[in-house]
Amino acid sequence: MSRQEIGPVQAVTPAGIIPGASIEIEAGKIVSITADRTASTRELPYALPAFIDPHIHGAGGFGPEQNTPESLLQMSAVLARQGVAAFCPTLYCAKPEQMAAQLRALLPALGKETGAQIIGFHLEGPFISPHKPGVMKPQDMAPAHLDDFKKIYEAAQGHIAIVTLAPEIPGIDPIIDFCVRHHMVPQAGHTDATYEQMQAAFDKGVRRVTHWGNAMSGPHQRKPGVFTAALDNPGISCEVIADGKHVHPAWLSVLHQLKPISQISAVTDALLPTGQAQGPFYANDEEVTLQEGVWKRKQDGVTAGSCLTMLEALRQLVQAGYTLPQAAACTSTHTAQLLGLPPTLQPQSAANLVLISPDLQKIEAVFLNGQSI
Ligand SMILES: [Zn+2]
Repeated sequence: MSRQEIGPVQAVTPAGIIPGASIEIEAGKIVSITADRTASTRELPYALPAFIDPHIHGAGGFGPEQNTPESLLQMSAVLARQGVAAFCPTLYCAKPEQMAAQLRALLPALGKETGAQIIGFHLEGPFISPHKPGVMKPQDMAPAHLDDFKKIYEAAQGHIAIVTLAPEIPGIDPIIDFCVRHHMVPQAGHTDATYEQMQAAFDKGVRRVTHWGNAMSGPHQRKPGVFTAALDNPGISCEVIADGKHVHPAWLSVLHQLKPISQISAVTDALLPTGQAQGPFYANDEEVTLQEGVWKRKQDGVTAGSCLTMLEALRQLVQAGYTLPQAAACTSTHTAQLLGLPPTLQPQSAANLVLISPDLQKIEAVFLNGQSI
């Protein structure tokens, strides 16, 4: 297969930025990255590892709530154009039998993607707390029973990457244990757990929190809650909706200062109509409108979710003080590590790259497995 060369670019690797880099690709893989340190770099695009989004409900008017494989494949194509190499289609909370039926309907999409690769599903429920619903519907939440979860797992034929759950609800421990033993990441989210309950949950195998700062207890000076437990445990990873709205930019900066950088990953948690050209816009069966940079429920103005893209998340992290290599790692590498995916942007890795203008405003090119998108 023919070799191709991408460059000169500023290659953003975990070790730093390589100026005047040429990235040589063969058979979909990176063969080498060489640098010309004399090159004038200011006008060169940045080459970053293509993004990975482990928490996203839809894109461009397509998403898993449409319950067809085609909807996921369209979502995959839209995301590829936004520089996303891989994602976890995220299902809203629903009764176990409904989630199982939905997974059975979506499953045929797996392996047929022409764009971003589906890593596995992220289930945002059903074992979550009615005290921290966000825009999930409390009537859809279910008491935690391992047998119910096993039915969901079987319906997905094991293709579940992440399970957001509330560690404080009775009966959840065997489900956490089942997740750990079957290589799913149990994440604490939509949870009203106390700080102490979270410490116990970490011991049981919960290693990460869902959209840190949103739909969780804390912070409070005497009730530090999940929010603080995540900050206070260096081994716990935080996913964060880095739109500067769901979490104030000051908190993004605090997170940067307090957490090991490898424990931060950006997600969009974007709703289905994000990037859709024309309305009306619907997400999770409710009409939504874009206001002040977020989707709000039309009927009552409650924030329904984000309209974030991974490029904007990258920009927000940089504005909050993350170096570009750190921000690039938070939008790709750290999630890859968490989910056991191969490393990115280094020799021998898949050539999944996004080229971004020097001002970080525009995606100039996307390569997935060496193919230009
Ligand atoms: Zn979500």
